[in-house]
Amino acid sequence: MRRLFLRRRCEIPLHARIIAAVLAICLLLVGLDGCRTWQARADVIAADKVETANLARSLAQHAHDTLYVVDVILSGFRERMEVNGLRPDQTGRLDHAITLRLRETPMLCGLAVFDAAGVRVAGDQDPAGIVSVADRAALAHHGAQGDRSVWVGEITRSCAGGQWSLTVSRRIDDRQGRFAGIVRARISIAFLRRYYGSLAIGRRGMISLATLGGNIVARADGGDASIGTSITSGTIFSRIRAGEAAGNFRSVSPIDGVTRLGSFRRVDDYPLYILVGHAQDEVLAAWRINAWLHMAVSTVASMLLVLIGSRVASQVRIRQQAERRYRLLADNSSDAIVCISLDGMRRYVSPAFTVLTGWSSEEVLPPCAAEIIHPDDRPHVAAMISRLVAGAAQATTCFRYICKDGSLLWVETRARLLQCDDGEMQIISNVRDITDRHAAEDRVAMLNRELAEQASTDGLTGVANRRRFDEALLQEWQRARQEGMPLSLLMIDVDRFKLFNDRYGHQRGDECLRAVAAAAAQTARGPSALTARYGGEEFVVLLPCLDAVAAAALAGRVLAATRALDIEHEDNAAIGVVTVSIGAATMMPWTGSDAGGGGTALVAAADAALYEAKRGGRDCAVTQADILHLDLPWTRPTDTACGVLTTMAANEPASAFTLY
Ligand code: GH3
Ligand code: MG
Ligand code: MG
Repeated sequence: MRRLFLRRRCEIPLHARIIAAVLAICLLLVGLDGCRTWQARADVIAADKVETANLARSLAQHAHDTLYVVDVILSGFRERMEVNGLRPDQTGRLDHAITLRLRETPMLCGLAVFDAAGVRVAGDQDPAGIVSVADRAALAHHGAQGDRSVWVGEITRSCAGGQWSLTVSRRIDDRQGRFAGIVRARISIAFLRRYYGSLAIGRRGMISLATLGGNIVARADGGDASIGTSITSGTIFSRIRAGEAAGNFRSVSPIDGVTRLGSFRRVDDYPLYILVGHAQDEVLAAWRINAWLHMAVSTVASMLLVLIGSRVASQVRIRQQAERRYRLLADNSSDAIVCISLDGMRRYVSPAFTVLTGWSSEEVLPPCAAEIIHPDDRPHVAAMISRLVAGAAQATTCFRYICKDGSLLWVETRARLLQCDDGEMQIISNVRDITDRHAAEDRVAMLNRELAEQASTDGLTGVANRRRFDEALLQEWQRARQEGMPLSLLMIDVDRFKLFNDRYGHQRGDECLRAVAAAAAQTARGPSALTARYGGEEFVVLLPCLDAVAAAALAGRVLAATRALDIEHEDNAAIGVVTVSIGAATMMPWTGSDAGGGGTALVAAADAALYEAKRGGRDCAVTQADILHLDLPWTRPTDTACGVLTTMAANEPASAFTLY
């Protein structure tokens, strides 16, 4: 039973590996793009941190400088009050000085001096003459506290103009160091807001100045509504309360709910801090557009890659399936498949080749390809390749492989010339074991030869039979006509053979016939002479290219050879052994009225001569020749009928033979 060559493949198929590789590449691309995009986001945020931190530092410095300028003014007026005193006679041109200072200092919207009782000594006051809450708070603070440092109060809104301002004050002492009053300034919130508003921080950006108490002093957006708003609930405030002087934040504003990225910074020397923030949406807007763009490009690229990959994988899968199918067929076909390049080198042999020849593929393929075609058959194979190269669609030949065990294997190969994928022309041949068929063909041919032999051989004597003689006569007659050669015939008849049978029996008669036939055949042997049994005890010897003289001589030798057999025949007259009578005839087939008779005239002539030989006493030969065309010295041109009996002894020369 033929073994199936099935391959077990445990590894992942190639098309699946291609898809996996494409997906991995896509994931890698998307991953790298994602990382890059995320890094870009971090970079944008980091840059914004630096920007807001710088802005916060700058604005904190601005707030400090503003307060410092105001404080210097306050310090100047305090010095003047403490030196001159606060009584009306001591204040002199104080109102004028305050008015001048207010005019010169744009951030100030109010400047006033109060005595210890809270009575305005000089400067601005509310129209109703009422001391404002902020001023009262400042009087209370300085009255209770002994320190002479500047005090930043709360923000207030004046009753007169409705302007928001931040109160800043200093204590005034009398000469004994007792509390004598305060000098107070109001910093215009509008001044600060104008300045903050002039800075580019985005549509929803924010700059706020707040007190350490957690109230908004000034804000770049939101108008007056946000002033005084408490932001103590935010995380930034708790960080400031914890003592953090500066930092970054990302928080949702408790005022407008906007998520911002920003920085805060304490104002040096004063209980204030600055908050600067950009709306997160605005900070990341450009990055977001960029990110979407990248995502779209990488998604489209990945989809294209997946599409191309799946197409390639699909093609690979189809090719692999086809290859597996063809390989399965090739591997399991009882016929071997052999691929040969045009230089005659084997490129591939299927497993069936090993089964047939015993040679493994390693042994018959390059580099150590053994020559296993029988040397006598190599020209056939070369001729087959030449036919294919010359353009034949298919070529078939039979030759022998020398198997590994030394035996010969007859194969029939059908080959085609095909172009491989790599462009190389290869001969694909289907090799079939025909050893059995070849042996059968040999046997049939041999049987046919035997049959043909039997069909043309006489069963008793072993010489040719009548049928074979008739064919040969016709053939040689035609040939002699074409070539202009003579054709002779001896007709041999055993003398008194009936009596032989009667005396010695048919078995001895058969033996006698065999001996006479053999003697005639032996005597008349030659390349084209044919001895045949004509019938009964009669034999013929057909002698192409033999003239009458040679035929007569041969007849004489047959007579002698028969006598020499020395077969007892008591009834054969005086001689006592078996003898024969011979009628010889020679004709030139290209002449005469019988030229187209196919040899019947020759047979008739020989028969007539035989009759003459019998009549002449037997054990002799008579020759009848068409002497018209014989250029012999003893011929008589007019005498063509025939003639004379001549008894010939075994040793008589042919020249003694008489012709008529
Ligand atoms: P003649 O000399 O005139 O030829 O006399 P004959 O007796 O030979 O001639 P005839 O024709 O009277 O007899 C021929 C004999 O040959 C008759 C027959 O029995 C014998 N004969 C023919 N064929 C065979 C054969 O195959 N075997 C044997 N044993 N005898 C045969
Ligand atoms: Mg006879
Ligand atoms: Mg006879």
